[in-house]
Amino acid sequence: MSNTRREFMKVGAAAAGLSMLTPYAGIAEKLDREQKTLFAPPVAENGEYALSPLPYAYDALEPYIDAQTMRLHHDVHHAGYVKGLNAALAAMADARAKGDFALIDRLAQKAAFNGSGHILHEVFWKNMAPAGTGGKPAGALLARIERDFGSAKALQAQFAQTAKTVEGSGWGILAYEPLGKRLVVLQAEKHQNLTQWGAVPLLVCDVWEHAYYLKYQNKRGDYVDNFFNVVNWNDVAERFDAISG
Ligand code: MN
Repeated sequence: MSNTRREFMKVGAAAAGLSMLTPYAGIAEKLDREQKTLFAPPVAENGEYALSPLPYAYDALEPYIDAQTMRLHHDVHHAGYVKGLNAALAAMADARAKGDFALIDRLAQKAAFNGSGHILHEVFWKNMAPAGTGGKPAGALLARIERDFGSAKALQAQFAQTAKTVEGSGWGILAYEPLGKRLVVLQAEKHQNLTQWGAVPLLVCDVWEHAYYLKYQNKRGDYVDNFFNVVNWNDVAERFDAISG
């Protein structure tokens, strides 16, 4: 990460005064040293956030997640969060220049909503891989899963039920909580509510209707169950190694 880019992220987070980048405090620098960019949302040369391309074809997760959903989800919904985040940060800069903070609370909400949406989707796309290619929990990740959940099967059962029971739009999230050095399973309502400060997402499942409604309609449970057919455990393990190492 360039100094300009790091500076932009710091300034953006400080200006926003909110949680969207807080879980990544210190991690970007750590990953920088390790030449990894897993947790760094992509930032364009001009300092604006940018949308990463999908790491596979739109139809790569068929039959579990259909190409049309992926196209809409990535190209429209996720792109919208990137646009909204950049717009919120630009509006904050404008407000600072004018010394007019009458709308700053609404801008902070927009930055939190769109920033969290951008960050979680960046994790979500890489959390998945074509069925049969994502591996299984192994090594240090498996050992920690067994310590904190009993078994990989028990984790999957808890994760699935947690994702299925999110009220309305939201996410199921497996995260590493660095204070207690534990893996935790969380719900997020929308993107930004009910977050646990300092937790780092390792495996996330998007349960907004746009993620599954075309194919699964109201059967969120079927979608969540099939999500595990396309989980990329190798990616989860890389994230875990990077944060816990
Ligand atoms: Mn989504």
